[in-house]
Amino acid sequence: MLVEICKECKKLLATHGDTCEFCVKSGVMIEGKEVTGEDIGSPVTYIPNHADGDASHPDCERGHISSFRDGNIWVRYKSATGALTPPENLVWG
Ligand SMILES: [Zn+2]
Repeated sequence: MLVEICKECKKLLATHGDTCEFCVKSGVMIEGKEVTGEDIGSPVTYIPNHADGDASHPDCERGHISSFRDGNIWVRYKSATGALTPPENLVWG
């Protein structure tokens, strides 16, 4: 029987692939750190362009990373579903 392990963390894989769900890479960078499966649920803050990088601007919105696919990232804010968000407008925390 073929046993596959995650090439990043060396854990056994439940499904066929190179990496487990935690190590899978998104191709999306937030503040220079690539988002991986481990970051799903992590808190981020959306900073609109007019806030000019000021994370304390009243129009900033806090949310959590909900998913990523094909170099795009979705963030769940107050609504139940994730919103496609440009990663350059996001900071961690
Ligand atoms: Zn892994």
